[in-house]
Amino acid sequence: MDRIYLDHNATTPAAAEVIEAVAQCLREEIGNPSSIHYFGQRAKRRLEEAREEVAALLGAEAKEIIFVSGGTEANNLAVKGVAEALAKPGRRLLTTAIEHHAVLHTFAALEKRGFAVTRLPVDHSGRASVEALAAALKPETALVSVMLANNEVGTLEPVAEMAALCRERGVVFHTDAVQAVGKIPVEVEKLGVDLLSLSGHKFYGPRGVGALYMRKGVSYQPQMHGGRQERNRRAGTENLPGIVGLGVAAQLARRHLADWAEHTEKLRRRLEEGLLRRIEDVKIFGHPEFRLPNTLCAGFGGAEGESLLMNLDLKGVAVSTGSACSSGTVEPSHVLRAMGVGPEYERAALRFSMGKDNTEAEIDRVLELLSDIVPRVRSFQ
Ligand code: PLP
Repeated sequence: MDRIYLDHNATTPAAAEVIEAVAQCLREEIGNPSSIHYFGQRAKRRLEEAREEVAALLGAEAKEIIFVSGGTEANNLAVKGVAEALAKPGRRLLTTAIEHHAVLHTFAALEKRGFAVTRLPVDHSGRASVEALAAALKPETALVSVMLANNEVGTLEPVAEMAALCRERGVVFHTDAVQAVGKIPVEVEKLGVDLLSLSGHKFYGPRGVGALYMRKGVSYQPQMHGGRQERNRRAGTENLPGIVGLGVAAQLARRHLADWAEHTEKLRRRLEEGLLRRIEDVKIFGHPEFRLPNTLCAGFGGAEGESLLMNLDLKGVAVSTGSACSSGTVEPSHVLRAMGVGPEYERAALRFSMGKDNTEAEIDRVLELLSDIVPRVRSFQ
């Protein structure tokens, strides 16, 4: 069976250039970048070249990039590291209701440690408002974390405006840009953020590697204790093959981002128009204008998302739902709930996320399959 992969927001296949660079590094770079001998210095050079590449993608300085194990770690280090550095009784932290669990659960953990946490609501399109943030900022607010692009619906948040407001008020601003990097231009100076998280496997790099951008001078308490790696900000021998692969992915993204965005947007539009034309009672979730090019979240009234997903999988098509399946019960998506899509749609949504190698023929095949599957699943429920 020819399989169709439309789940690039979950993870992307590593690019051929990335696979080659990782393999070459594993084979040939035997040294530890902290060692002072020849092999160590070679490894160190590769590490710093990759840092330059990631910094160039973001318009940052190389010394502002910290290599980590992925988006989850970057978010944990940013939020906990700043909260701990600025901890005083009564300090407040602010985020939104639609963040990835890597941010939401980190805030919940800090709440248990005594921080006061405010979660901003979002509107029907999944956007938080700058006015709501302005009203929620208090003199005791230490940190604000708002994602750049939502992973389930693709809505872009007004991060630049929010970061400008926080800068005026002297509040540190972090953004989880894991779903944005490699899909839209992401430049730290234009955004005005203090910290930014990214993850290699979301833009054709390796899994298990990512980076945290940290602006010079941000108050930060390291969360990983050990050696002096990453300028004392993240201890542990660096994952050099992964980091080299991330550097190559960053270089590819810088070169091809505009083409990838144009291609995936064309496919998304084709899918969206086809769904609305061919299937009854379909709703598109997310902002009509401020959205990722590649992401389409669609609700199919009266059809459970999990059933649609499994039926598509049987036919060789991989998509995802926003819902989390735990111990046999399907939890509705916290993002769709916060957007107020209504109970009928909370469990009835599918996320299609296109990648650079998908084709129009694949989209047409998915439309054909869904025209058959959706009415069938509806008739059983
Ligand atoms: N943040 C967002 C918005 C994500 O979509 C993801 C992954 O799905 C993460 C963070 C976690 O990244 P990682 O898988 O690299 O830990």
